Amino acid sequence: MTAFPTTMEPVAQQVTSLLSSFKLTTAASELVQRLLEAGHETALPVLAEVLELERQVRWERRVDRLRRASKLPPGKTFATFDDTRLPRSLVQKLRELRSGGFVERAANVLAFGLPGTGKTHAACALGHALVEAGHSVLFTPTYKLVQELLAAKRDLELPRVLRKLDNFAVLILDDIGYVQQSADEIEVLFTLLAERYERRSMVITSNLVFSAWDRIFKNPMTTAAAIDRLVHHSTILEFDVPSYRTGKGKAKGSETKASPSKRRSRSKKGRK
Ligand code: ADP
Ligand code: MG
Repeated sequence: MTAFPTTMEPVAQQVTSLLSSFKLTTAASELVQRLLEAGHETALPVLAEVLELERQVRWERRVDRLRRASKLPPGKTFATFDDTRLPRSLVQKLRELRSGGFVERAANVLAFGLPGTGKTHAACALGHALVEAGHSVLFTPTYKLVQELLAAKRDLELPRVLRKLDNFAVLILDDIGYVQQSADEIEVLFTLLAERYERRSMVITSNLVFSAWDRIFKNPMTTAAAIDRLVHHSTILEFDVPSYRTGKGKAKGSETKASPSKRRSRSKKGRK
């Protein structure tokens, strides 16, 4: 082996590890050594620079691909999310979730609150942040996914479709309360929850508090089993704030003083 100047060692290592990360195993084990043997060690910094550029471009392409596959609505990011009126604890939880640790642990996120309080926007913003960090995410309205699962079941394709969903580290199920609740719908939804349990993350938004989830799953046993699986490893986000649209028009500071009953009727009316 040709010895090379120790000052070249870091850059030689950088070249080797970048080539390995591109899965160019033979190049990774041969290239540096051969350049040195041919007396071309001055080429190493240039090579490192170009490979670093390659890494960057590949990363950007990967994030673009993940973003397209995620079906996340483009504008709903943390950049457009105003957290000044949210409780501190909620802001803190969202900040923690952005780091993505929950994805590694296959934990879940459950966002509760009245319509218009920003659950979907926050879930999407979280999804975008995770995509930027290289995680695979899929955003879907719950009713839509349930319809797709039902169709798959009819075609005896349910296992294949569930496997496809498994490729996503995070599944964002928006508005779980909107499921139409036929026995078949409940069954596929429950199968999905059970399938992902402790293996893959879910972010779920709901206008219904847990005590009202028997409206989704009907049978108390299924409801309890579904809640149990979701809550086991989860962060609960309570959007206990006025509807964003009604709150926004008012003077800052006064909007949070609205009584809960007033808030409820106002935000409900806004949606119906
Ligand atoms: P929910 O899912 O709780 O019913 P959405 O997330 O759909 O509420 O919010 C309703 C509308 O208000 C959306 O257009 C959303 O982008 C906007 N919105 C809600 N909360 C915020 C916020 N904190 N900052 C910026 N826009 C918000
Ligand atoms: Mg919503």
